Amino acid sequence: MEQKDKRRTAIVLAAGSGRRMKSSTAKQFMLLEGKPVIWYSLQALEQSRVIDDCILVTGEEDIPYVQQEIVNRYGFSKVRAVVPGGRERYESVYHALRLMAVDDRWISNRQGYVFIHDGARPFLTEEILESVYGAVRLYGACAAAVPVKDTVKIADEKGFAVQTPDRKLVWAVQTPQVFDVSVITRAYEMLFEKSGGREEGAAVTDDAMVAEKMLGISVKLVEASYRNIKITTPEDLKTEKSLL
Ligand code: C5P
Repeated sequence: MEQKDKRRTAIVLAAGSGRRMKSSTAKQFMLLEGKPVIWYSLQALEQSRVIDDCILVTGEEDIPYVQQEIVNRYGFSKVRAVVPGGRERYESVYHALRLMAVDDRWISNRQGYVFIHDGARPFLTEEILESVYGAVRLYGACAAAVPVKDTVKIADEKGFAVQTPDRKLVWAVQTPQVFDVSVITRAYEMLFEKSGGREEGAAVTDDAMVAEKMLGISVKLVEASYRNIKITTPEDLKTEKSLL
């Protein structure tokens, strides 16, 4: 099969509880200019030339709402399944990857590419999708990122600066993070083989890290956009409103 024919599935993560938002509504469902935050990335994926289909991962209790009020209501035809996530982000990712590995399911994709994206990042664009798609075809593993503007310090546990990395080499990593499905699935399997993923998993904050730690893979960083922020605190929602 030619590279360009590989199937491209997006996993959109929306199973977070929004603890840091101090709100009963998870950040991905809060309204931004009248639409839930998650709508924006689903819309970008729906209209994208790059993406074939999506798996939307959400909290078990939110599945009927998400299916009805988001997927059906806005006609997101690329969303093939709304599935439950786990307690932590890495568990939500692994759950979706396992579903993709089952052969007889219509969401199965064992040979193609997977675009893992945080539903709490509404400013996904076609330009970013095309850039990461180009990079994954060359390198097999990549992540959207931006070079940091501030100087970064590594601190000790007491909060004293102990190191200043060369700013030219420091990037802030975003999503989408894109991989050969078989490679990232293997990396996650290895994470879970080690004590059900708990110990190692506690330190996992993104997918690139799983690929690096488990398989020693070099993940290509692809310059994306400073606007591609993740909503983590109520202030972020205000910033996004002004960006819109
Ligand atoms: O909590 P954090 O900001 O790292 O979440 C990043 C993304 O991962 C969010 O879109 C959130 O909904 C998702 N997530 C998830 N399952 C979890 C925790 C977070 O899908 N258990």
